[in-house]
Amino acid sequence: MARQFETIALIGIGLIGSSIAREIKDKGLAGTVVVSTRSPETLKRAEELGLGDRYTLSAAEAVKDADLVIVSVPVGASGAVAAEIAPHLKQRAIVTDVGSTKGSVIAQMAPHMPAHVHFIPGHPIAGTEYSGPDAGFIGLFKGRWCILTPLPETDADAKAKLRHFWETLGSMVDDMDPEHHDKVLAIVSHLPHIIAYNIVGTADDLETVTESEVIKYSASGFRDFTRLAASDPTMWRDVCLHNKDAILEMLARFSEDLAYLQRAIRWGDGDKLFDLFTRTRAVRRSIIQAGQDTDMVDFGRHAMDKK
Ligand code: NAP
Repeated sequence: MARQFETIALIGIGLIGSSIAREIKDKGLAGTVVVSTRSPETLKRAEELGLGDRYTLSAAEAVKDADLVIVSVPVGASGAVAAEIAPHLKQRAIVTDVGSTKGSVIAQMAPHMPAHVHFIPGHPIAGTEYSGPDAGFIGLFKGRWCILTPLPETDADAKAKLRHFWETLGSMVDDMDPEHHDKVLAIVSHLPHIIAYNIVGTADDLETVTESEVIKYSASGFRDFTRLAASDPTMWRDVCLHNKDAILEMLARFSEDLAYLQRAIRWGDGDKLFDLFTRTRAVRRSIIQAGQDTDMVDFGRHAMDKK
């Protein structure tokens, strides 16, 4: 595949950064990939995995020749990274990120960005519950959406280049207003994770049911929440703190709807329960039809068991 950038700098080389690194190498999208991360341990591991061509603990050093800079750190760290790299960015470099919240990342990064670069925030809607450079893999972004939240003054050519980059990684790309992005992600991603953290925490705190019973009988539903609840604590602490308003709004709606469900159960209103459960089943079918999940029974677990 054709080279798209001479030099790409990856700031942060965990699940997302290392998946991007693997794709760049696999598809030959850059002449040179410079990898930068905060800790010597992660940098060493990235080097052992051969994720880049040059390795440095200095984000400032990493970006100085880069035509594309991709910041893949927890959203709460994006302001500090922006301040560090800003004076060293090359003329007309494209600077993007992959953070799960966009309003806060823009508020933290944009004030540092010099006028001679193109800052285009982004968010690939793809991930797993694993983290670190070993967790990344080729194909993570295939068939998944990547949302760009360009600023009003964003250069059209720079945006087209970034869009093409994500499409080469197999993504479909959408543009969105950052505030709308944060609302949409609050319901499709942030709330499900918060609910999962909460239900797993509740089960862990129960006195009348033992922990070993929770684990033993988890295939009845509980285990499906545990995948989300095993997600990286730093990342999710930052998401909660940095998309506070949208999350609180969705949590308020959720609590109202839960009270409605609670009332239906208390008063034995089977019709209400049946209607809701029928409506939600159709949502699952739509996700499968849109190619965003498998239609295999029990997420394909039985097929895995037979191997
Ligand atoms: P990860 O696997 O935990 O990797 C995090 C990377 O950021 C590591 O290189 C880490 O460096 C570095 N880092 C951590 N804290 C830092 C700090 N305070 N200052 C500077 N660097 C720091 O995380 P990830 O899953 O790739 O997530 C990265 C970003 O992608 C986050 O903003 C997240 O919201 C977003 N995102 C995640 C997913 C997902 O499912 N995981 C999906 C879409 C978007 P060291 O290891 O050297 O400390």
